[in-house]
Amino acid sequence: MFFHIASVLFLALALKVAWPLPSLTQHAACVLLSVQLPGAVHYPGSTKFSDSLASYFTKQEQETQPTCIVEPNSPSQVSRFVHTMSQFVMVGGRFAVRSGGHATFSAAANIQNGLVLSLSLLDQVQVQDDRSVVSLGPGARWGDVWQVLDPLGITVAGGRDAGVGVGGYLLGGGLSYLGPTVGWGCDTVLEFEVVLANGEVVTASENSHPDLFLALKGGTNNFGIVTKFTMQTYPLKSLWGGFIVHRPDAAPKQVEALSDFMGAEPYDPHAAMFQSYAFMSGNKFISNSVTYTKPVTNPKVFKDLVDPTTVIHDALRMGNMGSFANETSQMQSYNTQQTWFTTTFAHTPSIYSTVHSIWEDSIPGIANIPGINWCLTVQPAPALGHKNSLGLDSKEKRLAIIIVTVNYNNSADISTVRAAVEQLIASVEAATKAAGVYRPYKYLNYADGSQDVISGYGPASKANLQATSKKYDPHGLFQRGLPGGFKVFT
Ligand SMILES: Cc1cc2nc3c(=O)[nH]c(=O)nc-3n(C[C@H](O)[C@H](O)[C@H](O)COP(=O)(O)OP(=O)(O)OC[C@H]3O[C@@H](n4cnc5c(N)ncnc54)[C@H](O)[C@@H]3O)c2cc1C
Repeated sequence: MFFHIASVLFLALALKVAWPLPSLTQHAACVLLSVQLPGAVHYPGSTKFSDSLASYFTKQEQETQPTCIVEPNSPSQVSRFVHTMSQFVMVGGRFAVRSGGHATFSAAANIQNGLVLSLSLLDQVQVQDDRSVVSLGPGARWGDVWQVLDPLGITVAGGRDAGVGVGGYLLGGGLSYLGPTVGWGCDTVLEFEVVLANGEVVTASENSHPDLFLALKGGTNNFGIVTKFTMQTYPLKSLWGGFIVHRPDAAPKQVEALSDFMGAEPYDPHAAMFQSYAFMSGNKFISNSVTYTKPVTNPKVFKDLVDPTTVIHDALRMGNMGSFANETSQMQSYNTQQTWFTTTFAHTPSIYSTVHSIWEDSIPGIANIPGINWCLTVQPAPALGHKNSLGLDSKEKRLAIIIVTVNYNNSADISTVRAAVEQLIASVEAATKAAGVYRPYKYLNYADGSQDVISGYGPASKANLQATSKKYDPHGLFQRGLPGGFKVFT
């Protein structure tokens, strides 16, 4: 095999003598894969290459330049890719894996000077005849899923934004409108079809490779390339809700309404919501996204959160998953610099106003950055108690997840923004620690690449993930060869 790689390296050298040596391995891998998977490898300058790069959500991911992009159309082509890359890893071959490309930080699902495995052609949405389960390709976007499921009156615990990909979302957890009833999106996955490091295609479920099944529920790209997710479906014809925006002076009442919602006993499992504090174009807003997964207009549970006396914009309505996912998607700023960070705390009534004040106090430090949209969102974690790798204690009564999402125009501002977000998160964590409600869990899909997500799962879960990695990937292909995202051995 070494001879084989050496001859490909030689061929690559003969074709492009100007390549710098560190790039040679990546070029050689691209050349070999072009031969093995005709038509599936795209190079800089081609339309498919540019379209694929342009379809990443953030500017920093769009600006990362891989050597080539490989787009397989079947699990066996993914297997071929993995097999080939496993041979190039020993000579420095590196790759990234992407589904919907919505991870925000640089090189999460892209790679400078390496190969991208794009799963965009594996985008099937197949409903089983009795409609009880659906099989999803990782490259499908949630908008595609809702287009198929909405007319059938069924749903899954999937993304609230039409553009987000199935793959990354389900492998990191998955916050959905069904969360209070069914848990994380990954909790409702019945089977994963996975290409392992040795190229074998296996099905992981409760009965087949149960350790791998557990690891994939939160363990992201550490164990293999998932080529199919089989998910439990639930009946749902329509839901009520939407975004509403309040005047900034409504903040004290709205923050109290959030605290009341979080502390409600009993908790209404059909009610999902998140509250955001945003500074944009010099203005402050407070907004709520509320959703009720039953066809009930203005359910009592949201009474204070939708208080009409302070509303300045209201999109409340009866709709389906597709309409809500499109609404969220239309509010996003594609192709901008994005910096996201996250933290978690346990509910206690006094903490919400402290968090809001910390956010208010942070504004002067960033107010002059061009195009800045400075936003902090608080939302309840889904129902706990299902088997997954997230390490959350099922005895926790109610957890809240904070996400700070910042977008802005210029890459020159990255370090200023990062420092300000890190300071904001540090202040929030100091406050939650002081109140005794800090939790080390960091939601993978909201985290920055610098945050230690896997340690946040706790030592037992981390040790399990590491043992599972060693078992299924003994030579560390998905540790060394696939550096992007969150690794279990850091
Ligand atoms: C506008 C917006 C809205 C969002 N809304 C929600 C929401 O409602 N709920 C929520 O929970 N999260 C939400 N998120 C976060 C989202 O879940 C993550 O960004 C997620 O990673 C996106 O999935 P993707 O397939 O698009 O990611 P990608 O960027 O393609 O991949 C993310 C990571 O997963 C790995 N990966 C992807 N596919 C595979 C695979 N098949 N096999 C192995 N590894 C793989 C990649 O290597 C990468 O490290 C949102 C994000 C954005 C930008």
